[in-house]
Amino acid sequence: MAESVELPGRLAILPFRNKVLLPGAFIRIRCTSHSSVKLVEQELWQREEKGLIGILPVRDAAEMTSMDSVLSQGVGSETGERSSKVQVSTSDAHKVDGKNHPEVIHWHNRGVAARALHLSRGVEKPSGRVTYIVVLEGLCRFNVEELSTRGPYCTAKISSLEMTKAEMDHVEQDPDFVALSRQFKATAMELISVLEQKQKTGGKIKVLLETLPLHKLADIFVASFEMSFEEQLSMLDSVDPKVRLSKATELVDRHLQSIRVAEKITQKVEGQLSKSQKEFLLRQQMRAIKEELGDNDDDEDDLAALERKMQSAGMPSNIWKHAQRELRRLKKMQPQQPGYNSSRVYLELLADLPWQKASEEQELDLKAARERLDSDHYGLVKIKQRIIEYLAVRKLKPDARGPVLCFVGPPGVGKTSLASSIAAALGRKFVRISLGGVKDEADIRGHRRTYIGSMPGRLIDGLKRVGVCNPVMLLDEIDKTGSDVRGDPASALLEVLDPEQNKSFNDHYLNVPFDLSKVIFVATANRAQPIPPPLLDRMEVIELPGYTVEEKLRIAMQHLIPRVLDQHGLSSEFLQIPEAMVKLVIQRYTREAGVRNLERNLAALARAAAVRVAEQEQAVSVSKDVHKLDSPLLENRLAEGAEMEMEVIPMGVNNHEISTAFRIASPLVVDEAMLEKILGPPRFDDREAADRVATPGVSVGLVWTTFGGEVQFVEATAMAGNGELHLTGQLGDVIKESAQIALTWVRARAADLKLAAAEGTNLLQGRDIHIHFPAGAVPKDGPSAGVTLVTALVSLFSQKSVRADTAMTGEMTLRGLVLPVGGIKDK
Ligand code: ADP
Repeated sequence: MAESVELPGRLAILPFRNKVLLPGAFIRIRCTSHSSVKLVEQELWQREEKGLIGILPVRDAAEMTSMDSVLSQGVGSETGERSSKVQVSTSDAHKVDGKNHPEVIHWHNRGVAARALHLSRGVEKPSGRVTYIVVLEGLCRFNVEELSTRGPYCTAKISSLEMTKAEMDHVEQDPDFVALSRQFKATAMELISVLEQKQKTGGKIKVLLETLPLHKLADIFVASFEMSFEEQLSMLDSVDPKVRLSKATELVDRHLQSIRVAEKITQKVEGQLSKSQKEFLLRQQMRAIKEELGDNDDDEDDLAALERKMQSAGMPSNIWKHAQRELRRLKKMQPQQPGYNSSRVYLELLADLPWQKASEEQELDLKAARERLDSDHYGLVKIKQRIIEYLAVRKLKPDARGPVLCFVGPPGVGKTSLASSIAAALGRKFVRISLGGVKDEADIRGHRRTYIGSMPGRLIDGLKRVGVCNPVMLLDEIDKTGSDVRGDPASALLEVLDPEQNKSFNDHYLNVPFDLSKVIFVATANRAQPIPPPLLDRMEVIELPGYTVEEKLRIAMQHLIPRVLDQHGLSSEFLQIPEAMVKLVIQRYTREAGVRNLERNLAALARAAAVRVAEQEQAVSVSKDVHKLDSPLLENRLAEGAEMEMEVIPMGVNNHEISTAFRIASPLVVDEAMLEKILGPPRFDDREAADRVATPGVSVGLVWTTFGGEVQFVEATAMAGNGELHLTGQLGDVIKESAQIALTWVRARAADLKLAAAEGTNLLQGRDIHIHFPAGAVPKDGPSAGVTLVTALVSLFSQKSVRADTAMTGEMTLRGLVLPVGGIKDK
C-alpha cells in the first residue's frame, strides 16, 4: 500500500453508489449485476496477475441536488458526446438487490484505483447466475479524462493524481505542511490513546503513525470513520496533501470529541450505578464486621427476619403465595423508595395475623363456669342461666353456629364484664372492639392499600392485637354505628356475623380472605331499637334492665368495694365503708341504672383513705420493710388527694405487704361527714323531692330513658281564665291526650273526690289549668303519665300535697281504670 503504483492510461470502471473508496482502505463487495460481473471476469478473474480497476463514486438521481457543478467539473466539458449526466443502466456493484431499471446516474470525476486482493466465484443455485466476491484495496487517486460506456462495462481514460517523489519532497519542505503534519499527528495520537484505553488495540496503529507518510495516513484514518457521502467525496477531492491533512485533522478531532462525549455520558451512568453498588458493598462489610464482633444477632437482616416470621405464621397456601410475591417485590426495592414502607407494614400484618394460632380450648366445665359467673356478678340470675345454656350448647357441639349473644342495657350494668366472663369460662382470649360512632364502612373493612395511610379495619386490627384466631370478640355499642355517604358499617357487620360468609371475611386492606368462623362474637348495645333489623335478626338479645338500690347495694358490698380496695392497695383493715354509707352514696351521689358511677365514687373514697394511710406513715413508726414499697405509687396517691374523678390504678402491690408496712391503730370508717368532705355536697337529694312536692299540684312520676329510670315531676297550677287547659314541656301527642283524659276524669269525679261542693259544679269555672313537665328541653311522650297527671290535678284542686317518697307510673283510661304496667324495675 505504501509503494507508489504505476497507473495504466485506461481503467475499467466500477461505479460505487453513494460510497467512496479512499486510498489505503479495504472493501469487500459482491458483484451480481451483469456489467459488474463481466468487469470482474474480464479484468480480474481471467488475468494472471492481479489487475487494477477504477472505483468511481456515483450519485443517485434522488440524491442529486446542487451537485451538478461538481459533476460538470468532472467529465462534461472534455467529451462532447457525453454530458455530465450519462445515462446508463444501474450497474452498481455493491447494490445487490438486482434493481435494474434505467436511472440517470451522476459520475464523479475523480476516483481511486483499486487492486483486488481476493476473488471468489459463486454460482447461484436455480438460475445458474455467476456472482463474484471481491476484496479491494484502494491505491491512489485518479482523474477521469474520458468515460466510455460502450461495451459491457464502463472504461475511462485516466490520469494519476499522485505526486511524484520530487514533488512530495518539495511539499515536505513547506512549513505549512510541517505544521499541519504536526497537528494531525498530535490529534491522531490523542485518538489512538483514547481508543487504546477503551479497547487496548492501539499498538498497531501507533506503529503505522511512525512509519507511513502522514498524507497517506490521513486517508486511512478517515476511511475508518463513519462519515457522510459528502465528506467522503470532499476527502477524495483533497488532492493537495496540505488540504487533505487539514481536513483529516478536522475529522479526526470531531471523532475524538464524539468519543469523549459518549464517554462522559457512560461515566455519569456508571457513577450513579456505583453509588448504590458502593452502598451495597459497605453494607456487606458492615455485616461482616458485626459478625466478626459477634453482635449481629440484634441487627440481623430485617427482611430475613420478616420472612421467617411469615413462614411461621401458618398462612394458607394461596395466601402464602401472595405474601411471597409481595416479599419478592419488597426485596427488589430500596428502603428509600416510595412504597417500601407500606409494603413492609402490610407484610408485617400478614405475618402477625393469627392464621392458625389459637388458644387451646379446654374441656368446658359448666360447674366452674357457673361459679365464675356467680363470683363475678351479683344477681342477673336469668342472664347467667342463658349464658350457661349457651356454653352448654358449645360444649356439646363446639362448631355449633349458635346465635350471637347481644347484651342490651344501660351503661354500667355489666355487659362488658359478662362477655369477658364468657371468655374466661371458655378459656379463650378476650378482645373488645368499640363500634361507637363508627360511620365509615372502612372502619370495619379497612381502606384499600392504594390510599395513603390506609389501615386494616377494626376487626383485623383486633385479631392482630389478640394474636389468636379464636378469641371472644366483643362488638361494643353495636347500636351506635350509623350509615352515611361513607357506606354502611352495618352491612359489613352483617357479613362478619353471618356464619356462612365470615369464613372468608374480606378486609380491603388485607385483600386476602381471613377466616373469622372460629371467633365467638358477643355484642353490646344500649338499646335494641336502633340496631338495623337484619343485624338484630342474627343476634339473640339479652336485656339487662339496670339495678334497684337494693341490688346496687349488694353489688357494691360484695363486688365493688373489695375490688376497689384491692386496686388501691388497701384492705378492710384500713378502710371500712358501712352499708348505710354505700346506700347514701347510691342515693345522693349517683342516679344511674348501672353501677359505674357508684364504683367511681367508691374509688374516690379509697383514694382519700390511701392518702390518710400514707400520711399516718410519717407519724406512726412503721416496720422496716417500708422501703420495699413502690414510692412513686404513694406519691401519686398524695398528689391526687381527694379528687372526685375516678382513676383506678391497677396495682401489683400485695395488700399484705402494705398492711405490714402501714400498721395503723384502727381502720378508717367512712361516715356521713367524711362522705361530704370527699365527694362534695350531695348531688341528688331526697329532700329535693320533698321540697318540690311541698306545694299542692305537684306529683312525682317515673319515666324510662336509655340511661335508666328517672323521676319526673308534674306541675299543675290554676289561674283566672275561662276553662282552658295549657300544656308545656315538649310533649308528644300521646302525653297531651293523657292530660286531657286526666282532667276530664277529675272533673267528672269532682263531687266524689270532694273537690266540688255539689254535683254539677264546674271545676274550671272562671279558671284555666296549666300543666308543665319540667326539664322543658327534653322531649317527652308516652301514655304512662296518666296516674301522675290525675294525682297532680287532684292535689291542685284539693290543695293537699302528695307524698314525697312515692313515685308513680301507669296509663289510665277515661273510666278511671289503671292499665297493667311494665318495666317498673327499669324505671
Ligand atoms: P357496661 O359494659 O354494661 O357498660 P361494665 O360491664 O363495664 O358495664 O360494668 C361496669 C362495672 O360494673 C364493672 O366493673 C362491672 O364489674 C360492674 N358490675 C356491673 N354489674 C355487676 C354485677 N351484677 N355484679 C358485679 N359487678 C357488676
